[in-house]
Amino acid sequence: MIGRKFGKWIVIREAGRKGRAIAYLCGCECGREYRVSGCNLRAGRSLQCNKCKWKNCKKVNTKCMGLSKTSTYNIWRSLLRKCYEENHRDFHKYGANGITVCKEWFTFMGFYDEMGKRPAAYVLHLMFGRDCFSKENCRWVTLSELHKLIFERNKANTYFETDDT
Ligand SMILES: [Zn+2]
Repeated sequence: MIGRKFGKWIVIREAGRKGRAIAYLCGCECGREYRVSGCNLRAGRSLQCNKCKWKNCKKVNTKCMGLSKTSTYNIWRSLLRKCYEENHRDFHKYGANGITVCKEWFTFMGFYDEMGKRPAAYVLHLMFGRDCFSKENCRWVTLSELHKLIFERNKANTYFETDDT
């Protein structure tokens, strides 16, 4: 794997694990270095750093049918920021760890269609070991369910939940 190219990535060295997969420190053409899971590289799911991906995708479509004041909208907006805006306070936990957002969720209505309105007092949970916010990988859970999940997670080192902002 070392020295191989995957899109804009070049594999520099092994760097621990991400969930069950071996992680590699990769350098992007833009000069940034991140840990990427080996299976995402081989499957072609990760081809560049989040910053480049962000630059390359069209402006996020924030059209939201009057829902911009809702907590559902805030959760959606904040998960994009955590994954793609380097100056977000949680970027080191998300974007810098290779967590991405599926392309369907680059529009609020795409997110809303798949996840629906946030039920009161629920938070969005990204399942253990998953590294893309998407319908398959996320669900709404209550805080007590979340605490139970945290308790049961044992030593899984990839766990993320969104803030309830
Ligand atoms: Zn880059």
